[in-house]
Amino acid sequence: MTMLLRSVELEGDVVDVRIAGGRIVQIGPGLSGDAAIVEGRGGALIPGLADHHLHILATAARRASVAIDDVADIDAIAARLAAVEGLGWIRAVGCPAVLADAMTRDDLDVMVPDRPLRMQDQTGALWLLNGAALDRVLAGLGAGDWPASVERDAKGRPTGRIWRGDDWLRGRMATDPPDLAPLGRELARYGVTALADASVSNDARSAALLAEAVRTGTLPQRLMLMSAGPLTAPADGAFTVGPVKLLIDTRALPPFDAMVANIADAHDRGRAAAVHCVTATELAFTLAAFTEAGCQDGDRIEHGSVIAPDAIAAIREAGLRVVTQAGFIAARGDRYLRDVAAQDRPDLYRAASLLNAGIRVAGSSDAPYGPLDPWIGMATSIDRRAPSGAVIGALEGLTPRAALDRYLSPLDDPGGPVRRVAVGGPADLCLLDRPLDRALAAPSSAHVRATWRDGTMIYRYGDI
Ligand SMILES: [Zn+2]
Repeated sequence: MTMLLRSVELEGDVVDVRIAGGRIVQIGPGLSGDAAIVEGRGGALIPGLADHHLHILATAARRASVAIDDVADIDAIAARLAAVEGLGWIRAVGCPAVLADAMTRDDLDVMVPDRPLRMQDQTGALWLLNGAALDRVLAGLGAGDWPASVERDAKGRPTGRIWRGDDWLRGRMATDPPDLAPLGRELARYGVTALADASVSNDARSAALLAEAVRTGTLPQRLMLMSAGPLTAPADGAFTVGPVKLLIDTRALPPFDAMVANIADAHDRGRAAAVHCVTATELAFTLAAFTEAGCQDGDRIEHGSVIAPDAIAAIREAGLRVVTQAGFIAARGDRYLRDVAAQDRPDLYRAASLLNAGIRVAGSSDAPYGPLDPWIGMATSIDRRAPSGAVIGALEGLTPRAALDRYLSPLDDPGGPVRRVAVGGPADLCLLDRPLDRALAAPSSAHVRATWRDGTMIYRYGDI
């Protein structure tokens, strides 16, 4: 399939670009031929965007859930859940941590007494279940069979709080896999052509599901999967295998030696290590473990939500990358202003200071926990604005080009040299409706006119 993109702005010049066989085959002025023609009208042609850290199945599942991320109190949650029609399970997501921390099954039973309810907190670490849900999930199990993720009170009764228990819960619930098509389309509409799924729960089963979605085009993006355990890439390249994902939690850090061994084990298996670090404690623990185990290229800090000044030098010296999510400021910035002490706010979601130190920094959404739209991430990387308009970490703001570049590095080299639109390269492309500088003056996915992956148009706006 041959296509001619006419009059597109490419790195400052207006040129024509021919794509054939999934690749860019010619770039220059005044190209002609019998190919299908797309009129670029001077809009910028950029490489397709990469989301370097998200959770695909959870994001798709969230579309069928009740969002409670904007509630102020438990009464507001109750009101929203009471409005849910039907009889079966209710799945609520995004519960603010301060509210989730204060609730048990008994609180949920008051809200929803007669149907199973499961409610996830905003971090994704905690599920809260009401009594009807616990009855189903624990059916047929004796107390001795309950995994450690099932919290119990002093009398040994389950509190309804399940920590980091996604794998186990999924196995107990026999839910249908979520429909990935709407998510694939939404990402294409944002110009996204590459995804790195950072789910620790990725295993042969979920990988097979995702690979099939890639093969059928349901998920039209390029895909790299991280996982906690072993994972084998399929021969047809439906996905590649990325770093070993290590999930740690300040509330229950693993023994230090075990952490060091996990990093070394990932390296022994020929994979990098990607460690979840959202608190200063998690980062300090992780940096110490990397120091002990040794770093290899590709090792990553995920989130880097709180990076104290002295940690910047340690990250640089270790050669670690940081895969960050400025979009959290757009989504939760006002909560940070309320909950994070003023002197610690400059440490939140750093970007400019990391780049200035020579650290490779990649952009990502962490969807469904952060906003999926990379243009929100870009806009927030530049203006650092919370929903109220308050600015968090003004010194960490990036230039518009630097903000875009966070989404242009390859999946296997996050924060590395940006991909370019060049002859011979894959036709993973995003066409904007205006020149790049004007688009980046107010970053928005509304500027995306068309998206191609491997030369196949996976999104177009209107009659383009
Ligand atoms: Zn994540």
